[in-house]
Amino acid sequence: MPTVQLPALFPPAVEKSLRALPVIGEQRDITYYGTHAQNVLNGPQATGMGFWSINPYTGCAFGCAYCYARYTHRYVVERAAAADRLTGPLERDAGAIPPWLAFERHIFVKRNAAVVLGRTLRHGSEKHTALIRGDSIVIGTATDPYQPAERTFRITRQILEVLAEHPGLDIVIISKSPLITRDIDVLSRIRRRSRLSVHISLITLDRALARRLEPRAPTPESRLRAVRRLSDAGIEVGVNCMPVLPGITDNPRDLEALVRAVAAAGATRLAAGGLRLQHEARKRYLPFIAQEFPHLADRYQRAYAHSHHLSDRYRDGLRAFMARLCRRYGLRTRTYDDEPENSEPSSATEAAPDPQLVLPLTM
Ligand code: SF4
Repeated sequence: MPTVQLPALFPPAVEKSLRALPVIGEQRDITYYGTHAQNVLNGPQATGMGFWSINPYTGCAFGCAYCYARYTHRYVVERAAAADRLTGPLERDAGAIPPWLAFERHIFVKRNAAVVLGRTLRHGSEKHTALIRGDSIVIGTATDPYQPAERTFRITRQILEVLAEHPGLDIVIISKSPLITRDIDVLSRIRRRSRLSVHISLITLDRALARRLEPRAPTPESRLRAVRRLSDAGIEVGVNCMPVLPGITDNPRDLEALVRAVAAAGATRLAAGGLRLQHEARKRYLPFIAQEFPHLADRYQRAYAHSHHLSDRYRDGLRAFMARLCRRYGLRTRTYDDEPENSEPSSATEAAPDPQLVLPLTM
């Protein structure tokens, strides 16, 4: 039977505005759009990393030059464009600013995330069963869950409130922001019924350098204070020193100062990994290096000419060096390179040459 095309109720401009993603907030040069997620708990097959992930927002205002997650934003914009749902600054900027910049300027807020998650975790559902069997949930794999949007929209907090109702989970939260300490009350409730660890990302203690690399992220000192407050509240907290940026943040003395400060702040573990540069990240990062660190531009071009990761020698040196530092300062360690979850360094890699000689020199 042929489908009957009903006439539009309103003029085309009005129809379009009804379809469009609503602007729900603005902050300097950032616009926030409300979206309705169908699903917020992405399975291991989607992440390719052996855990479940939740990202309350798409896009991130912190604007780190090395961010690997920029590609996630493009998919949302393309889907909205295909459904004729672009409006306002998003429509104006489509094609006018590069996708890596749109990632920082147009943030999508999954307003119904907590409701959808509550439905997904109904007792006895397939996902709920997988999670109480021991699978991990990682919050903040592709966007910071405590970026400035969270101050207003509180989507991450709402998600945590849902998770607090479910005992027996294994939850990891990754963030650069001390805003996470706002939620110590709900984190403490989760901790009483589930496994919980918070990972604060920190790649340098140098405030001026951090400002160049992560222009809108909180200062290193405020992140260390967050580590202290979480630790004092009895929440297990580690630090992600990732990515280590060759020639920029890999000075052995600086890395040692960072590990020492992290341990003194109460962290119990540290994860480290050298910079990987996949397609979208490369488009942002290499021009950034050419502009901000021109003396490193050729070396970076050569180092990443044939692969998205650094040489085996560099990665082995980094792994051995960080393992030694962590032992010295009483931290558990994990070093990431190609595999998302590498095991502890073997005794063979611990016997690698002194990285003080190889770290900054072997890109
Ligand atoms: S905080 Fe994380 S998600 Fe946000 S821009 Fe930086 S690296 Fe990307």
